Formats: sequence, C-alpha cells, structure tokens
Amino acid sequence: MSNDSACLYIVSTPIGNLDDITLRAIEVLRRVDRVVAEDTRHTRRLLDHLGIARPMLALHEHNEDDATARVLSLLETGESLALVSDAGTPLINDPGFPLVRACRERSFKVVPIPGVSALVAALSVSGLPTDHFRFEGFLPRKQAARMAQLQSLSHGPATLVFYESSHRILATLEDMVEVFGPQRIGVMARELTKLHETVKSAPLGDLLAWVEADENQRKGEFVLLLAGTETAGDSVQISTDSLLRTLLEEMPLKQAAHLAARISGGKKNLFYQRALEINDD
Ligand code: SAM
Repeated sequence: MSNDSACLYIVSTPIGNLDDITLRAIEVLRRVDRVVAEDTRHTRRLLDHLGIARPMLALHEHNEDDATARVLSLLETGESLALVSDAGTPLINDPGFPLVRACRERSFKVVPIPGVSALVAALSVSGLPTDHFRFEGFLPRKQAARMAQLQSLSHGPATLVFYESSHRILATLEDMVEVFGPQRIGVMARELTKLHETVKSAPLGDLLAWVEADENQRKGEFVLLLAGTETAGDSVQISTDSLLRTLLEEMPLKQAAHLAARISGGKKNLFYQRALEINDD
C-alpha cells in the first residue's frame, strides 16, 4: 500500500542514459500501487534495472480512452499510480493529457516528479536564446502540410524547437532551407545523453549539406532548433524564395541565382537549384 492514496504521479524517466532518473522518481516508482506505462515491456526493462517490481497497466495512443477510464476507477478505490512514458517527461509529445485533465476535473491529486525532457536538454545546450521559445513537437508527415506549417512559423523572435525522427530528418531540413533560407541558424541535437550524442550549430544550408554527406548523422532521435528572426521593426524581413522569384522576373536564371546568393549571403549552388525548381513550376 502507498502512503499517499488516490494520487497520480507524473514521473519523468531517462531519454537515453539510465542514470538520468531522480532519486524521487525511483522512490515513487517503488512506492506506488501500480505503474501506468506507454509500453509496459519498455518500462519493465527500466524497472528491472532499478530493481523495482510493480504491477503495470498500459496507456498508449491506441487505448487512451479505455485506459484513462481504468486508471480513474483505480484512483476511486484509493490506489496511487505513477504515469511514465517511454522516455522523458510524460505528456510532452506523449500520451496522458486526457488522463491528467480528467484527474484534475475530479479533484484527484496530480503530482509532478520532474526530470529529463529532450526539449529542455536540447534547448539548454543549443546556444540559442532560451528566454522565448516555441515548441512545435513533430511537423506533419506530408510535405505540403509540413511546408505550410513552416511558412506559418517563418517570422518571429522565438527560438523554434521541433522533434524529428530519422525517417524524415533530411526531408525536414530540406524544407527548412526552402522556407527559412540557407542562412538561418539551426541546431541539430541528436541522440542526447547517448553514445553518439551530437549537437551541431550551423546555418541551415550547411547543416543540410553535412547531414546529406554523412548518413550516420541521419540515425537516431533528433531535436531541431531554429534561431528566431529579429523582432519586427528591428529589421526588414524578406524570404529568400520571394527574393529569388522577383529576380527571376527581371533577369536570366544564373544571374538571378548569383545575385540572390550575394544579397542573402547564401550558397550559389543552393539558389541555382532552387531557381531551376521555380522555373519548372
Ligand atoms: N516525452 C519525451 C520528452 O520529454 O522529450 C518526448 C517523446 S517524443 C514521442 C520522442 C521524440 O523526442 C523523438 O522522436 C525525438 O525527436 C525526441 N527525443 C527523445 N529522446 C531524444 C534524445 N535522446 N535525443 C534527441 N531527441 C530525443
């Protein structure tokens, strides 16, 4: 039996390095009546590593309604439970929001046991301003929707933070270069706290070329961060695409690509490629 009944603990777990768990998280996982996990096999490995054996219940995106109802009924009986996800902080791009909302509506105690999140870990080492950031989670999988989402974010002072997977890292960087231009500073934080941890900061065009050239840089888990633009009034904002389109109306393709590169400080070959695409449209 727990000594804090009818309570839901939101427990952060590691994002790679198993030592990144707090003493309090271990104590709570040991003490609760049940652990509610996104993937029980995955969490079982963590609990085994910690020498903890507790009954478990699965709550993931495919059973969230049913599992939420079951957790609420267990709380009604006075059980205390710990919600964990596969990695990092539950609810940060992970299941659990309907459960926490329902608990609060029913006045069950919900207690945070804070710890790691890839979002904060990446931001803290990015070298980008952290006083004002915007977390976007995963971008849409379909390119048209992804481009539209990026367009909607292209201006603003906040540092932008995205999660990305190995399947789409290249396509996303390509789209970012197109929308934000090759000169916008990006940071790629890969495999944080793991063996191949890499944090690279560079203009987006260089970041893309680096990832294209080295397939190892496309493996693992990623947080992508983009520098914000200066606030309106401090500078005139112009998208490199619209600059190129305007120049193409006035002069031959090669000249337009060279001039756009000179004005923006970007790479000539990237503008040349983009000019060819625009002409093909
Ligand atoms: N709840 C987690 C958190 O607090 O960070 C995030 C879960 S989300 C489903 C998984 C995504 O987080 C990955 O696809 C990746 O974008 C990011 N992520 C998780 N672990 C990471 C790591 N060690 N390094 C870089 N990114 C990571």
